[in-house]
Amino acid sequence: MPGFELFGEEERKEVNDVLESGVLMRYGFDPMRNGHFKANEFENEFANLMGSQFAQMTSSGTSALTVAMASAGIGAGDEVILPSFTFVASFESVIALGAVPILCDIDDTLCLDAKAVEKSITSKTKAIMPVHMCGSVTELAPLQELCKQHDLILLEDACQAIGGSYHNKMLGTIGDLGCFSFDFVKTITCGEGGALITNNKKFAENADKYQDHGHDHVGSDRGAEKHPFLGYNYRISELHAAVGLGQIKKFEKIIAKQKSNFSILHGELSKVEGVEFRRVPENAEESYAFLNFFLPTEEKAKKSITNIKDAGVDACFYWYENNWHYYKKWEHLKNQTSLGKLPEEVRNGLQDFEKTDFSQSDSFLGRNISCLIKVGWSKEEMLERSKKIAEAVKSALAE
Ligand SMILES: *Cc1c(COP(=O)(O)O)cnc(C)c1O
Repeated sequence: MPGFELFGEEERKEVNDVLESGVLMRYGFDPMRNGHFKANEFENEFANLMGSQFAQMTSSGTSALTVAMASAGIGAGDEVILPSFTFVASFESVIALGAVPILCDIDDTLCLDAKAVEKSITSKTKAIMPVHMCGSVTELAPLQELCKQHDLILLEDACQAIGGSYHNKMLGTIGDLGCFSFDFVKTITCGEGGALITNNKKFAENADKYQDHGHDHVGSDRGAEKHPFLGYNYRISELHAAVGLGQIKKFEKIIAKQKSNFSILHGELSKVEGVEFRRVPENAEESYAFLNFFLPTEEKAKKSITNIKDAGVDACFYWYENNWHYYKKWEHLKNQTSLGKLPEEVRNGLQDFEKTDFSQSDSFLGRNISCLIKVGWSKEEMLERSKKIAEAVKSALAE
C-alpha cells in the first residue's frame, strides 16, 4: 500500500495551486480561490474511476464509514455486523453513531463468512459491513442476498482494497455504499482523508450535508444555508484533496506494480510445499496490496514469522497477535473502556466476548502470514525478499 512512496511533481503542482490562492477550504471564498475546487475535482475523478455515480470526500476513512452509515439512517441501537479481523476504525465508526458493532467470524478469504453473518442477524440488525482486508474480498453475493431478505444496508469497507474487483465491478461499488481511506499508509494517500461512493442519490445528498454540519449547500451565501438535520464536521481540506488529485493520476501504475511484485512473491512461495494461499472468490481480483498465506498450524506460522524477521525481511505481519487488527487484543472494546459514558444502547448491546466463540476466526488467522507489497521495490529487490521469505518458511516447515 504505497501512496507515500510516490510523491512527485503531480502532488506538488496540485498543492501549489491551493497555496497560491490561500483558500484551504473546499467551500466558499469564491472571489479568492482562482477557480480551484480540488475536493470536487477529486470526487468527480474518483467516481469515474470506480464506476460509481456519487463520491463524497471526508476527513478520513473512519469518518467516511460514519458518514456513510448516518446517510443511510443508521443510528442509536442499530446493529451493524462486521468481521473479527479488521481495523479498530470499523467498530469506532459504528459506536460514534450510538450504533452497536457485532463481531462475526471470518473464513479462508480472511473476510466475513456469510454463514456466520446469517446466524448473527437479529431484529436490530441494520447493516452488514464486509471489510476487504489486505486487498481482497469475501463472497459478496450471499451477503447481498441476506441484505435483500432482511432489508439491510450493505456497506463495504474497501479502505485496504482500492483497485480490487468483484464480478468485474470495482470493490466499493457492489454494496449500497463503499468507503475508502486515503490515510498516509493507504494505496492512494491525501495525508489524511477518505471517501464514500454510492449510486443512491438520497444517501449521496445526505452525506454531502452530514459531513458539513448539516449545511444544505444551497446558494452561494454560506451564512444563509439552512440545516435540514444535525451534522458534524467530517470535511476534507482543499490541501489534502490536492495531494489526492496528484496521487489518483498514478492509480493504474500503482496497481500494476503491486500486481507484478505480488506475482514474484507468489511464484517463490508456490514452490514451498505446505504453503496455502488465501482464497480469493471466483470472479474476484485482489488489489495486490498484500500477499496472504496459511501454514498448516499456528506453531508453524509463528516459527515462520520469526524466521522471516531473523532473515532481516521487514513488512511481513502475524495479525493474530496484532493490537490493531484482531479482536483478541481489543481490550478497550471488550471492557467498554471509554473516556465518557458510552450510550446505553452500546453498553447493553455489545457482545459478551467471554462467551462468544471465535474459534473459526482463530483457526484461520492463527495460521496466517501477511506480506505487504510495496511499489518502491524493484524486481530484483522483490525477488531477493521473496527468496528469503520462502526460505524462512521452508525451514520452519522442515523442523
Ligand atoms: C485505514 C482503515 C480504516 C480507516 O481509515 P483512516 O483514514 O485511517 O481513518 C478503516 N478500515 C480499514 C480496514 C482500514 O484499513
